[in-house]
Amino acid sequence: MEKGDIYPRVKCVVDTCTHYVAGDYCSARNIDIMHEEEGRMSQIIEQTMCKTFQPASSFANMLGSLDNVNWGGAASKLFAGGEMVPTVTCTVNSCEYWKDGNHCVADAIEVTGRHADECQDTNCQTFRTKSR
Ligand code: SF4
Ligand code: SF4
Repeated sequence: MEKGDIYPRVKCVVDTCTHYVAGDYCSARNIDIMHEEEGRMSQIIEQTMCKTFQPASSFANMLGSLDNVNWGGAASKLFAGGEMVPTVTCTVNSCEYWKDGNHCVADAIEVTGRHADECQDTNCQTFRTKSR
């Protein structure tokens, strides 16, 4: 990813993730959207996942995730009413919105999987099978 890249807005409803912020925001600096099964191309939404998900219940995970916090975004959200937007790296190359360099060119994506326990319970709801 290079400076100046444009990223989709991220709405996330995964309230069990340590990066989740009320209002359906994600406070991570970057999220990785991936195929759920390594080496198997996602064909449907359920075969995608947010690999950056970390269960909020684990204190160790919470500490581990501190280096991936979008402090700038959090500050502007809290103090200036700005948007909290993580950058998005996506390897789901079977998706219509995927572009070379692991970019997502959708205007906005939605990450779903309320009450998720692990990455595999989350999905990129915006996934659309690439037309051939
Ligand atoms: S599941 Fe992914 S998009 Fe949602 S809050 Fe966690 S890291 Fe962010
Ligand atoms: S919409 Fe497609 S390209 Fe964008 S993050 Fe989701 S799966 Fe990846």
